[in-house]
Amino acid sequence: MARAVVVGAGLGGLAGAIALSRHGWDVTVLERRSEPDETGAGIAVWPNALRALDVLGPGPRGLGAQARAAGTVEVGGGIRTMSGRWLARTDTADLRRRQGDGVVVLRRPDLHALLRTAAPEVTTGVGVRRVDPGDAARPAVVHDDAGGEHPAELVVAADGLRSTIRAAVWPEAVPRPTGQTTFRLIAAHDLAEGGESWGNGALVGLGPLPGARTYLYAVVPTAEVPRDDHLPWLRARLAGWHDPIPSVLDAVEGPVLVHALEDLRPPRSWHHGRIALLGDAAHAMTPNLGQGAAQAFLDAVALAEEATDDPASLAAYEARRRPGAEAVARRSRRAGEVALWRSPLAVAARNALVAALPAGVAAAGLDRMLGTPDTPHQKETSS
Ligand SMILES: Cc1cc2nc3c(=O)[nH]c(=O)nc-3n(C[C@H](O)[C@H](O)[C@H](O)COP(=O)(O)OP(=O)(O)OC[C@H]3O[C@@H](n4cnc5c(N)ncnc54)[C@H](O)[C@@H]3O)c2cc1C
Repeated sequence: MARAVVVGAGLGGLAGAIALSRHGWDVTVLERRSEPDETGAGIAVWPNALRALDVLGPGPRGLGAQARAAGTVEVGGGIRTMSGRWLARTDTADLRRRQGDGVVVLRRPDLHALLRTAAPEVTTGVGVRRVDPGDAARPAVVHDDAGGEHPAELVVAADGLRSTIRAAVWPEAVPRPTGQTTFRLIAAHDLAEGGESWGNGALVGLGPLPGARTYLYAVVPTAEVPRDDHLPWLRARLAGWHDPIPSVLDAVEGPVLVHALEDLRPPRSWHHGRIALLGDAAHAMTPNLGQGAAQAFLDAVALAEEATDDPASLAAYEARRRPGAEAVARRSRRAGEVALWRSPLAVAARNALVAALPAGVAAAGLDRMLGTPDTPHQKETSS
């Protein structure tokens, strides 16, 4: 049986490990942390991600069925101004008709846990120091920081935005700051309708979680963010925004996660010798389109379908996944910049354009990004 070593047990690495073992690989998963850090906050799982999870089994609808059951389907959505005026409304019934699913929002640790349960055993507390990439004549060898050596016909670098493996082989691919910081939190608030609101150089997103809870994320320029006391600062920053944003901020449960946002300067290729990049290690993107994990799940499905013990097979994986994932990453970064515009003239023009965009055009653009149930692994885009 051909051996695969998956480096990293985040959402992408776990999906890759599940997909490869379903295709008959003998999979080892190495994770540097003693326990993967999947604390707090929610995650939006778009229909393309659900379709990829469906393929990961077990059973006909696989992990997709478990994700749908663990989350809440968004019943409303769209883009509003900070005063609450809708610029564009998502027709969620039409989205479900076209896509076969709505957007499912769940707690991130729940998504991680259901992947972990389905994945081969994860060896935690073992970081990878370096990889000899191997070639057609010899296996790759993964060297861990405890002195262990793991020969393999395939090494999956799923070690995230700051990938050790990518840094050694693709030094040109470095994280790129966006100048934006995100806040994520969960509140004891029963949300009637989700969506995103833009105004005053900031954006706020709301999504419904099971148990009458709300997932709120906010993005603001990093230069404004204080070192600590984040929640009082955020309440003051968003005072005067439309309901229910202030009430959600008054009902926070648990930690407020604060991260400076970065994406990745694309690597020149996605494979070298027997090493393949997957997930954020290949294409970390800003969260504006809610597509980072979705694209990692699509990578996992494609890699398992294309990879053989001949390293030349990895070219087919790259050809299938790279154009689409990088197009989504570019679009995501642009969306984040536009949402945080501040100049009154630019904001007025942006809002008018968003409001004037025919619903059919917006839906067609979304379907190009997500693929459809008839083109389940994403129609690649070049925008
Ligand atoms: C604020 C925010 C909101 C987001 N919201 C969404 C959303 O709503 N929907 C969506 O689809 N996506 C979203 N994303 C993107 C999504 O979270 C990521 O794309 C996804 O988690 C990436 O998974 P990964 O496994 O590729 O990387 P990671 O989650 O970074 O996992 C990498 C793993 O590798 C381990 N590791 C690192 N180095 C080594 C080493 N040398 N040896 C061994 N192990 C190592 C790490 O400990 C880690 O466990 C969001 C991202 C952010 C930042």
